[in-house]
This record gives sequence, C-alpha cells and structure tokens, in this order.
Amino acid sequence: MADTMRAFVAVERGRFEVQDVPIPEVGDDDILIQLKSAAICGSDVHIYDGGMDPLCGYPVIMGHENAGVIVKRGKNVSPKWQVGDRVTSENTVEVCGSCYGCITGEYVTCEHRRGMGIAADGILAEYVRIPGDILRLVPDCIFKIPDNVSFEEAPLLEPAANGYKAVFQEGRMMAGEYVIVSGAGALGLYSAHMAAIGGAARVILLVRTSTAKDKLETARKLGVTDIIYSDEPEKSLEAVHQLTGGYGADLAIETTGVPAVLDLGLHMLHVRGRMVRIAINNTPYQYGLDSLTLRSIELIGHMGYNTVSWLNTIHLAQQGKLDLKSIVTHRVKLEDVKRGFDLMVSREAGKVLVEFD
Ligand SMILES: [Zn+2]
Ligand SMILES: [Zn+2]
Repeated sequence: MADTMRAFVAVERGRFEVQDVPIPEVGDDDILIQLKSAAICGSDVHIYDGGMDPLCGYPVIMGHENAGVIVKRGKNVSPKWQVGDRVTSENTVEVCGSCYGCITGEYVTCEHRRGMGIAADGILAEYVRIPGDILRLVPDCIFKIPDNVSFEEAPLLEPAANGYKAVFQEGRMMAGEYVIVSGAGALGLYSAHMAAIGGAARVILLVRTSTAKDKLETARKLGVTDIIYSDEPEKSLEAVHQLTGGYGADLAIETTGVPAVLDLGLHMLHVRGRMVRIAINNTPYQYGLDSLTLRSIELIGHMGYNTVSWLNTIHLAQQGKLDLKSIVTHRVKLEDVKRGFDLMVSREAGKVLVEFD
C-alpha cells in the first residue's frame, strides 16, 4: 500500500482541493476502510459554500456518506469485522461515553461527538480510519452492507436513516396517518418515502412552486401522493383541509429550515399534531407560539439517527422495500468532486454520488 492517498480537503474557508495526504495509520484497535462510493450531503455543502466552518478547524477531509471495504484491522478488533467486509460507517469517530446522550444509547447527541467531515477527517478520500475508541464504545458504528445493496446505494443509507428516525422514532407515525413533508431535498424525499413505506394514508409534499419538475417526479415515485406550495399558503392550507377530511394532518416533517414554512406546517396540523424539525438553519423564528400551547402541538427536534434507525433502514433495503437511488441526479469522480459541490450549490443537483476507482 502506498503512503499517501487522494483526498478532498477543506484547506481554509472557501478553498478546497483534491490533495495527496498520508493514509491514516492503523493501530491495534482500529479499522481502515477503502472507500468505494460516497455521496455529498447538504451539511457538507454548508461548509463548501462558507455558511459554516468545520468544528475541528482547517484543514479537514470533507464528507460523511460512505461505502467501502475493510482493508486493514488491528489485532484487537472484534472478529465481527474482517478484511474484505463491505461496510458503511455511520460517521461518528468520537464520543465521550459518559454524557446523558451516550449513557442512554443516543450517542449522536453526545456533547463531545466528533463526526466525519465536520469535526474530524471525513470520507472523500481513498481511505478512512475508524478509531478503536469509537468501536469499543459503539460497536455498531459501522454496518455490513447487505449483498443486494450496491456500493452506489449504500452511502444513501445515512440520509435514509435520518428519514427513518424522523418519521417513526421521533414522529411516531402510525399507518393511516396524514403526513406533510416540507422540502424536496434528500432528507425531505427520504422522509416522504419512509412515511409511504410505513403506510401513511397520504404523503403531502410542501415545496416552492419553483421546485424542479424532476424532483417532483422522484417524489411521486417515492410515494408522495399530493404536492402543495409554500408560496401559495392560503391555497395550500385549504388543500390540506380538503385532503385530510377537514381536520388537518397528524404529522409534519420540516426539512427546509425556513421559518415561514415551519409556521405554515404547524398550521396544517390538527390539535395534538406533531412536527419533527430536521432542518439546520439558525434564522430566528419570528412568530408567536401560543397556538402551539393552545392546540397542544408537539414540536420535536431531530438529530441524526441511532442504531435502531440504521438497523431497520438496512432491513428495509435488504428486503427491497427501500428505493435508495432514485434521488441521485449526478455522478462525479473523486478527482472532480468540486464540480459535484458546485452542482449542489447551484441546486442543479439533487444528490451527487462520488465514484472511486
Ligand atoms: Zn448526510
Ligand atoms: Zn457523550
């Protein structure tokens, strides 16, 4: 094995390059994965477009949605993990093991969590190390990829697991419910898909009228039954009233981060409805919240996934019930990954896959 690898590095704010960097060293407790495929996430784009700096500072290797093969394992690594295993990492590389999040098994909410591509080196590189410390604390921070799931599909298990957690674990969706999903990005589309898989009576997608036609076609393919428009709020409220038998929806999944859309979604719920907010956007929310109190609405924060979200998402993929790849619109090579980010920034791309060869 050579000493260096190609990696897409955030060198400083606004400067990104594919560079030669050292291949991570593998200690007795660590695993080394050779990447076979990756996908670009909206949160990676936040760093690329300067909206956010990596929490660990610069330079850092970008990216977290991944699939690859174990090529090295330290001598103390559990026999569960063998060289040649096809795996995907859920992208946590460090947690403290003792905070409230960690002791209750919700390690993605660990105050000290370091995630790939944001607080530690990521996966837009030929190799990535999974440190022994995280394997000891969270043995299931990597998952075997089922045989029927391709390397191209496997990186998409990560955003799909987010959708799973939002809809079923946080949103507590029941079959037969009316669900609203705002936003047609990856998290919006996977949430809508999960709601459809789980037996929602209707999956209503709330988007801007300018949303690209191909995204809406994908949304329909994934199980969206109705499309309504956030820039036509009165019409959309009336449509939801009609579609839900006059009461309003049971559950809303908010992925846009736009305060006006969150507010509109809250008004589309019936009393005691639930909203899960997936979005990251710190714009202050400028509306009064009394209707939340008076109508007993639950507003629930979303963070990532837990092991149950991952396992169940993998089961759905294994059983052929999950369409992971319809949202992919573009493919780029690692050497050309900047183009993939530019396509995401310009909103030309929905989801960009990164190919390694
Ligand atoms: Zn992601
Ligand atoms: Zn912790």
